[in-house]
Amino acid sequence: MHVFKAIVKLIVGSDEGQIIELDAIETRKKIPDALSKKKLEVQQIQAFLRQLCDSGWMEIQEDHICIGPRTLLELPQLFEALTCAECPVCNYHVVQGIRPCTQCEIKVHKHCAQRHRKLTRGNKCIECKQPWNTL
Ligand SMILES: [Zn+2]
Ligand SMILES: [Zn+2]
Repeated sequence: MHVFKAIVKLIVGSDEGQIIELDAIETRKKIPDALSKKKLEVQQIQAFLRQLCDSGWMEIQEDHICIGPRTLLELPQLFEALTCAECPVCNYHVVQGIRPCTQCEIKVHKHCAQRHRKLTRGNKCIECKQPWNTL
């Protein structure tokens, strides 16, 4: 679970919302095995990652790892704990998003920003009513 959290944190903290497998394996340097307190083996992390992907917690896209749908559905509190933003348009967590507002710090899904622009026929911020910058 420690490793899982560390990997999720890495992904959430990354700009693209995804990391390469090597980065995930690097977490073994920071997190010892919960039971033996020893450094985890590379193969252990790889096996763990495969397990996570098989059960939907993580997803592998080409050679990148991103958050799987199951984590978003079943562990939303984990995301809040990692101060992940919530999209004000759809109220789901944003991992890969944009910051369209020049005044406030909201993070929005790209497609939600597009939808919001279409619906409001303008660029008014959903939060602070200030204009959004144009993409
Ligand atoms: Zn959204
Ligand atoms: Zn705003």
